Amino acid sequence: MTLSSIPAQAVSRSAGAGLELRSDATQLRSDFPVLAREVHGRRLVYLDNAATSLKPQSVIDAVTEYYSEGSANVHRGVHLLSQEATTAYDAAREKARGFLGAAQASEVIFAHGTTSAINLVARSWGDAHVGAGDEILVTVMEHHSNFVPWQMLAQRVGATLRVVPLDPTGAVDLGAYVRLLTARTRLVAVSHASNVLGTVAPVSEIVRLAHAKGARVLVDGAQSAPHLPIDVRQLGCDWFVCSGHKMLGPTGVGLLYGPLEVLDEMPPYEGGGGMIGQVSLEGTSYATAPSRFEAGTPPIASVLGLGAAIDYWNGLDRPTVFEQEANLMAYAEERLTTVPGLRIAGHAAQRVSVIAFTLGDIHPHDIGTVLDTEGVAIRAGHHCAQPLMRFLGLQSTARASFSFYNTRDDVDALVMGLARVRRMFA
Ligand code: PMP
Repeated sequence: MTLSSIPAQAVSRSAGAGLELRSDATQLRSDFPVLAREVHGRRLVYLDNAATSLKPQSVIDAVTEYYSEGSANVHRGVHLLSQEATTAYDAAREKARGFLGAAQASEVIFAHGTTSAINLVARSWGDAHVGAGDEILVTVMEHHSNFVPWQMLAQRVGATLRVVPLDPTGAVDLGAYVRLLTARTRLVAVSHASNVLGTVAPVSEIVRLAHAKGARVLVDGAQSAPHLPIDVRQLGCDWFVCSGHKMLGPTGVGLLYGPLEVLDEMPPYEGGGGMIGQVSLEGTSYATAPSRFEAGTPPIASVLGLGAAIDYWNGLDRPTVFEQEANLMAYAEERLTTVPGLRIAGHAAQRVSVIAFTLGDIHPHDIGTVLDTEGVAIRAGHHCAQPLMRFLGLQSTARASFSFYNTRDDVDALVMGLARVRRMFA
């Protein structure tokens, strides 16, 4: 589904109980305190949302409140503070279940982020179910977090990593995928949306084809969770992972979803407190999911902050804000193509709001540095996607990435900043 094709009417504009859902970008901006600050004496124009999103005040408050009013550990206490923390922690899991569209809260594990969730699956499921001669399929647009753990697994067990290319528009080459998917494929790991090109992968189709071959599918939703409606049951995937900090939440927490029958196939990854059934000198039995995968004290404050972030999402008229974001993306592309020498990487039909670009032969770090002096925050580099960079024949790019709180003024500031870059370097 393209951002612009999400039917705005599909979801009611009311959150229930008379609560109006919100979508006015100008109003929403005032929820993000960082947007009030200046950078080098200029208004902050934050266009680095693919790296991490800004946090609304309600998320900051949830984290502060945990530390100021009840900084107790979860699950083990009989005292009031611990019980309150446990209730709030469990409530956050239920909110995450709703956000992802999972059937049961026990199918949602709090990991530390996308990277740690993928490593958990690679170590736990991967070591138990992938062996010599098996194949793992990834696409060439994967972030290193969805590439390196599979390469390490393949090296550990003697499996082969195969890579699906993109077509000339930057979309996943489904024909090549079908050819690379064989009876030896045990696992397919794919980004729902690329952090460089914005390309949205046809995940349901990828899952359907993989399941027909008996392969499991992990979906890296780090870039889709903040930009697309997520429904893990509709996607049909075996795992869906995302990072709290990219979807308005704090750092240090992420989600790992898997249907219970898949989680049941997974031995523990880390051992420690909280993940056990019984422990004796002779041996240990393990808890069921999700506890089996949450050894040790979890990042409680971050989990509660993520719960508040999901509350925030639930207060938005998401079809409308996503539609506005798609319109902003179209405006940005139109304006950027007027900048002489600017080339956008990737034009897939279905994209989230990430634009990677080059400007003549000006080094992307120079672009980023000059823009910073104008208050415009973008990213420059290989974006943790070196295989993709090589595939595109590029060393690095500049990248502007948008969120629902960005406006046309932000795009105009970017374009004006780029004119200054050209005056300095071109
Ligand atoms: N996958 C994708 C597509 C990403 O964009 C990122 C972050 N840039 C990651 C994985 C890794 O996320 P984290 O650093 O939060 O673990």
